[in-house]
Amino acid sequence: MTERLQSPAEVSSLDYRLDSYARLLRSVRAAGYEFGSFEDGRPAAGEILLRHDVDLSLDRALAMAERERDLGVRSTYCVLLSAPAYDLTRPRNVRVLQRIADLGHDLALHFDTHRYWSTDADPGAAVIEAKVADELDVLSRLVGETPSTASFHIPPEWVLDRSFESFTNTYAPTFFDEIGYRSDSSQKWRSVEPFGGGLPNRLQLLVHPGLWHADGRPMAEIVSERRKRCHSRVDEYFDPMSEAAEQ
Ligand SMILES: [Zn+2]
Repeated sequence: MTERLQSPAEVSSLDYRLDSYARLLRSVRAAGYEFGSFEDGRPAAGEILLRHDVDLSLDRALAMAERERDLGVRSTYCVLLSAPAYDLTRPRNVRVLQRIADLGHDLALHFDTHRYWSTDADPGAAVIEAKVADELDVLSRLVGETPSTASFHIPPEWVLDRSFESFTNTYAPTFFDEIGYRSDSSQKWRSVEPFGGGLPNRLQLLVHPGLWHADGRPMAEIVSERRKRCHSRVDEYFDPMSEAAEQ
């Protein structure tokens, strides 16, 4: 039995299974949309910039990247250099990034301002650009490419609708205020229509790969499991030292 493909505007909710994500992409494709790249600047009419902020898991990112490749969809994966959730100094993880790039996707930086500055104080363009350039340089060395795009993790107000000279900000007006913007943040599409009111003519679509699984797991469970994994890595490292100190 083949199920009729809904138009994007008809999709009322999503269960965060990877299969449902693939169906959403197919319906967007069937509605005539093309998938573009931030590197080409402002999207053309009928073009979607699909962005992934990798907050929780590189393996989930790879699973999504493979599914997109099967559908002929191109997207941009933004990775954190400093997240406790995954360690980009592990050769295995670097190979995962290279695999995502080999699948035809763009790699970009996911930059965490909160590591450097408080949320209410704008440090100024030159200071922000210097730190982003440092991290882009490290990412370039890891992946052997030179990414020039950055998305901000839990963005403070002062990076929204702002352009920078030395890198492409995914929240610059060209990609944010001047076009449509939709996101799957906090698994809100469980209860909110992804494209209520129809699909905008030009769109940036943010999807977090860590929120999508084969069996559609709830976000609280995912976050709790990832947190436990991080804690156990910290414990494995420090426990022998604590034991030695107690003897
Ligand atoms: Zn993030």
